[in-house]
Amino acid sequence: MMNGLQTLGDVTAEIFRLSPEGNTVQKRQRLRMEDEAPGAALKPLVFRVDESTPGVVQSVLLERGWDKFDEQCQDVEDWNLYWRSSSFRMAEYVNIKPWQRLNHHPGTTSLTRKDCLAKHLAHMRRLYGESIYEFTPLTFIMPSDYTKFVAKYFKEKQDLGTKPSYWICKPAKLSQGRGIIIFSDIRDLMFKDAYVVQKYICNPLLVGRYKCDLRIYVCVTGFKPLTIYMYQEGLVRFATEKFDLSNLEDYYSHLTNSSINKLGASYEKIKEVVGQGCKWTLSRFFSYLRNWDVDDLLLRRKINHMVILTVLAMAPSVPVANNCFELFGFDILIDDNLKPWLLEVNYSPALSLECSTDVSVKRSLVHDIIELLYLNGLRSEEKKCGRTSQGNAMVSQARRSQQKLCAAPAPPSYASLIQFATCSKRSPAAQHMCPKHTRTSQLREMLCRQNKLLTREAAKSKPRLKAWHSPRKMLSLCASQSLPRKTKGPTGILPEAGNTPNNHAGNFVLIFPFNKATFSASRNGLNVKRIIQELQKLMNK
Ligand code: ADP
Repeated sequence: MMNGLQTLGDVTAEIFRLSPEGNTVQKRQRLRMEDEAPGAALKPLVFRVDESTPGVVQSVLLERGWDKFDEQCQDVEDWNLYWRSSSFRMAEYVNIKPWQRLNHHPGTTSLTRKDCLAKHLAHMRRLYGESIYEFTPLTFIMPSDYTKFVAKYFKEKQDLGTKPSYWICKPAKLSQGRGIIIFSDIRDLMFKDAYVVQKYICNPLLVGRYKCDLRIYVCVTGFKPLTIYMYQEGLVRFATEKFDLSNLEDYYSHLTNSSINKLGASYEKIKEVVGQGCKWTLSRFFSYLRNWDVDDLLLRRKINHMVILTVLAMAPSVPVANNCFELFGFDILIDDNLKPWLLEVNYSPALSLECSTDVSVKRSLVHDIIELLYLNGLRSEEKKCGRTSQGNAMVSQARRSQQKLCAAPAPPSYASLIQFATCSKRSPAAQHMCPKHTRTSQLREMLCRQNKLLTREAAKSKPRLKAWHSPRKMLSLCASQSLPRKTKGPTGILPEAGNTPNNHAGNFVLIFPFNKATFSASRNGLNVKRIIQELQKLMNK
């Protein structure tokens, strides 16, 4: 049994930050012993994977003391987190149990296909005006917009006289730079099936003389109510040949995909400013910009707004589904006027570890997603069981709340998806949903205990935001300033703030809701108009 805040803090850090080299068995023992409340035998959480699950997810979860699900000897429902790269079948969303989490949300691919994204954003432009949604390059969806594109192409040609105009043609469904053509002469345009043709940003911000783009990680922990976290670290991907508009066929100069550039002749070479390889961390990039007196805070704020506006474009159309989260990879190009442009949003952004930069960013990213899950589960647990009581009462409280969960009233609905939450009495089906003795049913108990630990830890120590500015500065950019709260810990965490989302977990910072008005406008249905008004106010400041 631990006593003293310092010790509890250490334990939390230990649970959340187990070193890769350490002994797993020892760690698990520690996890059980030190996180254990009297009377509860805590067993490891269980994760489920398939052949598409990134290796880093599996290795991080094992480090943290989780067990891998074994279909042969475990009950089919005996897991807590199912993480895979492809989307789940509707039945898997429908049959989800309260102690389980899925790493995809139904309906989110409508943001991650290039043509669907373009449609969503065009719709938002029509509703809320061009100016607020002018962060994507002009885009035409082929073949339906072909005539419009041809008209625009010739109009621009006329306006520019002898100067060339540049376009990029991308397959709607492919990724990693596959099938892309950059052209200035319409006779070079070739497409079949679904493509988008987009204005080519021909004045990118160059580092050394190399083009780059940013990979920003965004985790939506819920669409109803909408809750968006942005990761403060990320990747900057470089082209490996110098930017050269006179040679549009050199993909090593124009495309920043690492899947392409790692095969380039200059990948291993030490390149001007960029150095070896083709990736930097986002923090290194921002510190580079600061050295050039760039207002990186302003740039990050613009990116926050862009992310919120993009997610808002699809949020009203996604079905209600509990216990799901979605990690998106936003690809953003900065031009030489420091304007960020959204290029695309990726579903299941690559988590492969190809270089040391990948290792440092993606391993921490997965750790922090798990922390986010803990906090997210905690919040709903708190909501359902009310304020948790002190010490020994916690476990029984968590057990009671687990039972209550089955009787919780359903949110307004997409009936099939929330089937599990709609039972008003403890029907046999509901009982089936709360197995008493499976290992995974203990998730909620563990979450409640960890909430306590985290809350105390938060009150005592600084949050871990290594690479960016101080957390306070960061948070003031986003969420914490004016969200409704009951109490506020010294770090800005909201220890007992009822329904208010936690404003950070690891390097994830809450960017939506960002104030009281957007909090209200996202609770009972999503009032997009109201939210956009709030964003506009913020952007005009
Ligand atoms: P993919 O899904 O194939 O990676 P992207 O839209 O991300 O497709 O484009 C691949 C790369 O092409 C980007 O990383 C960027 O370097 C470049 N690119 C894409 N669209 C544009 C654009 N409109 N202007 C300039 N460069 C672009």
